[in-house]
Amino acid sequence: MKPKIQITKGDSTKIEVDAIVNAANSSLLGGGGVDGVIHKVGGKQILEECILIRNRQGGCKTGNAVYTTAGNLPSKYIIHTVGPIWNGDVEKCTQALSNCYKNSLALAESLGAKSISFPNISTGVYRFPKELAAKIALEITTQWESSTLEKIIFVCFDDENEQIYQKLINQNS
Ligand code: ADP
Repeated sequence: MKPKIQITKGDSTKIEVDAIVNAANSSLLGGGGVDGVIHKVGGKQILEECILIRNRQGGCKTGNAVYTTAGNLPSKYIIHTVGPIWNGDVEKCTQALSNCYKNSLALAESLGAKSISFPNISTGVYRFPKELAAKIALEITTQWESSTLEKIIFVCFDDENEQIYQKLINQNS
């Protein structure tokens, strides 16, 4: 089935879904932006699980995804994916960001998640151009054939991202 796609403005920690995707960094030790808020609201259990993953596999590479439980958050899982730091290399950065979405969706499915939320990965501190990032996110998710996922929510934190997503969704429908 093709999951339903929704755009909303707000905070990832307030959305009720089975799996919340976090825009993590490769250390998995937390950071600013959405990562900081997820760890702050979700509590220390998330960091403890991230440390176990780090001990096992040494962090998470760009484009890859790992999961923990969601601590105090109402979700079942947090999927931590590491977006690329924008460096102007369109091809490489596009590939890496596509991998974030694909690997997060595949991991969510392997966990049996029915719903998932994505932040606008890499468009904060990592400075990926917002319109290109949104096109990549929507291209991957609108083409995704899923066995478990019924709903994909894009949680836009800033007005600019929300407007870009709304514009692109309207163009495609
Ligand atoms: P990255 O390092 O991948 O760029 P950031 O967390 O800096 O990660 O930014 C990614 C996106 O998450 C940005 O669009 C930013 O506005 C957004 N963001 C920041 N806080 C939140 C939050 N609480 N919920 C959802 N998105 C958020």
